[in-house]
Formats: sequence, C-alpha cells, structure tokens
Amino acid sequence: MIIEDTFLHQGLRKQLVETLKGKGIKNEAVLNVIGKIPRHIYFDKVFHNKFAYQDVAFPIGAGQTISQPYTVAFQTDLLQIKKGTKVLEIGTGSGYQTAVLCELGAKVYTIERQRELFTKTKRLLHDLNYRVNTFFGDGFIGKEAFAPYDCIIITCGAPHIPKDLVKQLKVGGRMVIPIGKGDIQIMTLIEKLEDGILQKTEFGEFSFVPMLEDKQY
Ligand code: SAH
Repeated sequence: MIIEDTFLHQGLRKQLVETLKGKGIKNEAVLNVIGKIPRHIYFDKVFHNKFAYQDVAFPIGAGQTISQPYTVAFQTDLLQIKKGTKVLEIGTGSGYQTAVLCELGAKVYTIERQRELFTKTKRLLHDLNYRVNTFFGDGFIGKEAFAPYDCIIITCGAPHIPKDLVKQLKVGGRMVIPIGKGDIQIMTLIEKLEDGILQKTEFGEFSFVPMLEDKQY
C-alpha cells in the first residue's frame, strides 16, 4: 500500500503532538508514535487534511467514531506498553488505536462488533503490514482462546466492567476502561493484584460511543 504522507500532513502531525503535550501528555514513547503514524489514512479520503490532525473524535461510519488523539494518548499511557506486551483491544473501529499499540511493540488482539468496520479495518491493517489479530465479535465476551492478556483496553463506553474481561486479564495486568452509561464515562484503570483483587483508579471524564450490548448478529 502506498501511503501519501505530505509535508502538510507531517507538519500538522507535529502540531498535534505539541497540542497533546500542552494538554499534559508526557509519555515520550506515546508522543513519538503519534508523531509517526499518518492518522489521515484511518479517515475517509475527503476528510484527510482538514480533520485528521485536529484533536477531535470524528465519524468513521456505522455510527462510530475514531477516538480523539488526546484520548488515545491518555489510554495508551495508562497501559504502560513494553515490547511484547500482549494487549486485547475492544473496539477496533478505524484501527488507529490498534496501530498505536503495534508501533509501541505490543502484540495486539482486537475485537470489533460492527461487521462493516471489522472488514474494512482488518484489510487496512493487513495492507499496512501490521501483524494484528482481528476478530468480529462481542467485546463483553472477550477472546478466551488467547487469554490471559497483560493489558485490556476498551475504546467504547462500558456500562459496567465485563466479568469475562476481568477473567482474561493476567494477574499483575492492567485494564483501561471508560465506565458509564450515556454521554460521559469515567476513565478507569483496573489493576489485577496478586490475590486477584481489583484495584481501581479513576481519571476523570471522557466521552465515548457506547459499548454495544445484546446487538443481533
Ligand atoms: N479504537 C477505535 C475506537 C472506535 S469507537 C478508533 O480509534 O478508531 C468504538 C468502537 O467500538 C466502534 O467501532 C464500535 O463499533 C466498537 N464496539 C462497540 N461495542 C462493541 C462491543 N460490544 N464489542 C466490540 N466492539 C464494540
């Protein structure tokens, strides 16, 4: 796949990184990766220049959105990814967050509930040569076959903490999940301690599309 990444894109991307720093993102590895990935290719073409490097969420089809760069940076920072970290992502969407995780060296398993997005993004990530395991399915159930995971990231608003995902998290592992119904969620870090106890830390309000529950296949 030939990626058109112009000086304009690169310049806008540098500005985006500065914006994220200004908003308090300090994780150098995360900032580097955001500075490197051409976010515009995760958008529909007409929107490339105008919206791809603004710090906003944007529609990607099927009623879903690509997460705001600040949100991607914030969640990724909390995961503390190292090379080889095994990550389960709920909500593949555009694939941008997936690419961020891959570029940080994570081994990524990602689940998407909307068939249209699953098909489109699976192809895109493959064309970009990312070695990622994409699944069409329900994030509430997770992916037992490849558990346990070092990290689990949920990129849609969860009405509660899915029990199956807690089971699939390694002891010592980290789950980053925006919890809440409606328009506002509380970003929550859940650490699974030695004795299986869950330690929760809250990080303020964010806004996500809802995690789809009981959707017909
Ligand atoms: N990480 C994505 C975020 C997309 S928005 C990106 O940055 O582009 C959230 C995504 O979660 C949507 O694509 C939506 O279809 C998906 N989703 C919603 N409910 C889900 C569920 N139960 N299981 C898996 N994915 C789900």
